[in-house]
Amino acid sequence: MYPAAFDYYAPASVSEALSLLAKNGDAKLIAGGHSLLPQMKLRLATPSALIDIGKIADLKGISDLGDKISLGALTTHHEVEHSALLRNSCPLLPEVASHIGDRQVRNRGTIGGSLAHADPAADYPAAMLALGAVVEVQGGSGKRTINADDLFTGLFSTALNSNEILTAVHVPKTDAKGNGVAYAKFPHPASRYAVAGVAVWVNIQNDTVQDIRIGVTGASDHAQRATKAEAALKGKPMNEDNVAAAAKLASDGLTTIGDMYASSDYRAHLVQALALDALNKAHHRAHGWH
Ligand SMILES: Cc1cc2nc3c(=O)[nH]c(=O)nc-3n(C[C@H](O)[C@H](O)[C@H](O)COP(=O)(O)OP(=O)(O)OC[C@H]3O[C@@H](n4cnc5c(N)ncnc54)[C@H](O)[C@@H]3O)c2cc1C
Repeated sequence: MYPAAFDYYAPASVSEALSLLAKNGDAKLIAGGHSLLPQMKLRLATPSALIDIGKIADLKGISDLGDKISLGALTTHHEVEHSALLRNSCPLLPEVASHIGDRQVRNRGTIGGSLAHADPAADYPAAMLALGAVVEVQGGSGKRTINADDLFTGLFSTALNSNEILTAVHVPKTDAKGNGVAYAKFPHPASRYAVAGVAVWVNIQNDTVQDIRIGVTGASDHAQRATKAEAALKGKPMNEDNVAAAAKLASDGLTTIGDMYASSDYRAHLVQALALDALNKAHHRAHGWH
């Protein structure tokens, strides 16, 4: 099906895009278009105008900010996957990006679009939670930041207001000794979206888990942290028994969803199995065993 008719604008700056958003009440921003256009073709979205932010130079690029890395909202999944800076200093993001869709999706889709869209089966949200990322947004009343823990609020819902633009994502560097990261995913065989996905960041010192964050996507209506599994490992040695016990807790507290492809119980089981895999990989990587 063709989308309903719409006006089209291509602003050159964030401020121009914001004033277009203010003037056109039901307008939608478009970045890579790989989530919005399918919705428009199905007439699930019928915006009167599209504001194409794809030409705004300030929203592009990956930069080294010392202890963290900033990714412009327009950074494509392909750019994340192949960034040498990210591969060396925040390898969880390239690992996650490599799991997204297919080559065409990775060439067009953007990190800002993915996070703003908040598809329950998207991959990045799990990584954002595991890394404790922070997003920068800009709206009519200025700039603000939102912690990943507060960003995903429900099905396709975020803490962004409809008149705000997500401008950048900040992730910490995780290359210091003792850090380990991993992402384990069970992809839908047709779309490659996550039926379930688990991202882990762990910091191990003297064989004891100093800190750990586990992000789960795909299993419930929005990505969430597996706080019970985190608590089960914090302050403890990351041995086989402790990891297995924590993985069993990874689906606790999640209201898992069921659909034609995977029941709610099966998704809960997947989360536990994927958590075991991701925890073991992160543990190995923290020790440099790879
Ligand atoms: C066949 C297929 C397979 C896919 N498989 C996967 C997968 O395995 N894993 C996965 O995670 N994703 C998958 N995707 C989704 C893909 O990653 C999308 O690119 C991504 O979710 C949205 O990014 P986009 O730049 O295309 O956003 P768009 O489609 O342009 O926009 C999506 C929404 O976000 C809003 N928006 C966009 N940018 C901003 C911004 N900077 N600030 C505020 N709002 C903004 C738009 O208004 C719109 O509502 C798949 C998509 C397709 C078509």
